[in-house]
Amino acid sequence: MAKFAIDLKTGNLKADETPIEAPKELIVGIDLGTTNSLVAYIKDGLAVAVKGTNGKNTLVPSVLHFTQEGQILVGDEAREKLISDPENTIFSVKRLMGKSYRDIQAVHNYFGYKIIDDDQDSLVKIRVKDKYYTPIELSAEILKALKQRIEAELGETVNKAVITVPAYFNDSQRQATRDAGKLAGLDVLRIVNEPTAASLAYGIGLDPALSQTVAVYDLGGGTFDISILRIEQGVFEVLATNGDTFLGGDDFDRTIIDHWLKVQQIGPTVLEQDKNFNQAIRLLAEQAKKQLSTQANFNGTISDWNFSLSLVEFEQLIRPLVQKTINACQSALRDAGLLANQVEQIIMVGGSTRTPLVKKMVSDFFGRSVFDDVNPDEVVALGAAIQADVLAGNQKNILLLDVTPLSLGIETVGGLMDVIIPRNSKIPTRVGRRYTTSIDGQRNLKISVFQGERDLVEHNRKLGEFILKGIPPMPAGLPKIEIQFLLNADGILRVKAQELRSNLEQEIEVKPSYGISEEEMALMLIDSIQNAADDLQARSLLEARNEGNNVVLSAERFVVQNREILNEEEIATTQSLAQTLREAVAGNDKDAINRHLEELNNYTGPLAHRAMDHAIVEAMKGKRV
Ligand code: ADP
Ligand code: MG
Repeated sequence: MAKFAIDLKTGNLKADETPIEAPKELIVGIDLGTTNSLVAYIKDGLAVAVKGTNGKNTLVPSVLHFTQEGQILVGDEAREKLISDPENTIFSVKRLMGKSYRDIQAVHNYFGYKIIDDDQDSLVKIRVKDKYYTPIELSAEILKALKQRIEAELGETVNKAVITVPAYFNDSQRQATRDAGKLAGLDVLRIVNEPTAASLAYGIGLDPALSQTVAVYDLGGGTFDISILRIEQGVFEVLATNGDTFLGGDDFDRTIIDHWLKVQQIGPTVLEQDKNFNQAIRLLAEQAKKQLSTQANFNGTISDWNFSLSLVEFEQLIRPLVQKTINACQSALRDAGLLANQVEQIIMVGGSTRTPLVKKMVSDFFGRSVFDDVNPDEVVALGAAIQADVLAGNQKNILLLDVTPLSLGIETVGGLMDVIIPRNSKIPTRVGRRYTTSIDGQRNLKISVFQGERDLVEHNRKLGEFILKGIPPMPAGLPKIEIQFLLNADGILRVKAQELRSNLEQEIEVKPSYGISEEEMALMLIDSIQNAADDLQARSLLEARNEGNNVVLSAERFVVQNREILNEEEIATTQSLAQTLREAVAGNDKDAINRHLEELNNYTGPLAHRAMDHAIVEAMKGKRV
């Protein structure tokens, strides 16, 4: 703290001898996970995860339980109710963030609680007893628990945070995460990709002079993500992501349970009928799995039953599951255009990477040893804390930048995508561009915002739209409309449209009405490459059509406005050439359109000159009067 002493004689401030240190701002890092969440901060220059009041766990299970009395329990206590009271116990909320019912329709059986849709495309809600909750509200409860935890540790209020999300999260899922933070009383300064945070925890990306290609392998409780990152001058670019949204440590547990039931000849219906047994065997299976991460054998009992498992048996059970993750790594590499040996660092994230077979198979696949020194279920939160510390300005020589994975733009006449912020642009960024109207007297202008790499907006992903209303009527081409794209550090986009002549203004923050699947994101990129040639053709046809339409319109306007100086034949020829062009525009031959366009232009050129001269003469006359 800075110390000052007041010199009583003069009343002036006098500096104390102790060097002044600016008060440090505290921003915490939060890993809001599907299975577990946790909060971390920088303590004496080191990132540490915060334990609960019992001083034991840093992990808070991402589970909520609604008690009969209407209380909401979060974490370990809630987790105990998963089997005994599934209807009132909510898990995996993260899977529902920013999703519509349509998005999750295929998997809604996975959830033991009620998921409500009022219409297919709106965001899902969860029903508990007679109340409805949004995934944002439920995530906010988890965040509140984390906020309380760190406030108890520090004895002061905390209201700024960095929260991590999977690299494939789209804008709507990121925005939902941000909103959850706000609801929990946290100002979310940045949303950071989980693989980026994990890299930071290992110090990767902190030295701007080092360029590296990194694979982040994240096997959690119920999800698997592989991300290939390219880090250059402190900029993290996601080259590819892949994974399986329904593959994780829980599946390891399930294979153990199935194995035990078979060995003991217990029918699977017992699990449905006896909830206590079901709960007990699940816990025992997880315990066995964890023990086999460090030991060669496990023995346990539930009442009279004896359950044992050797490491060899366990590895046999899970090998096909681990192989699936390796296949996903292979796909991610292919998408990134890399060979396994071109990846320089492999970072292990998620509790399930403690399983030795996982480490071994990943390391064999990439042909080098993996990074696993940092606690794999804390590494993301620790990295988030480092990012937070950088944002708080406590680490002066580090600048962390992100890039946008897909291009952002708007729809222009004919359904063309006009890219305003190209993919891989560093963010935050602000780009403005001028547009005008294509129809005379146009009062309203629809601005549709898209994301993607294709030339036609119909192939890209719509993020939102708005209407600039009440433009004063003017001939086509006269209004000056400026569109500004502001992409902030979290990848959230603000689009502003302004008609400069009338100062009309309108803006939106883009919150797409529903989500995008992970595969879709990667596919969009591949798609754009595969369709580049077709797209180019489609684009030039559309551009020819737009131009053709404009010329037809102005030719017609020209005839109407200049009837007195044109003779019958000139009017007839202009109209007939315009008609031919109009017919060409309706067809699909861009060369024909361009040819007729030129004919019309060539014919009307001299007429336009004459009209201009006439107008000048008239104007001069007017002056003399
Ligand atoms: P998420 O990122 O999905 O929230 P975590 O990274 O916290 O999940 O991983 C949770 C998973 O890690 C659970 O399936 C848990 O059983 C598993 N896990 C935790 N510790 C170990 C261990 N020592 N050995 C094997 N698996 C473990
Ligand atoms: Mg995780």
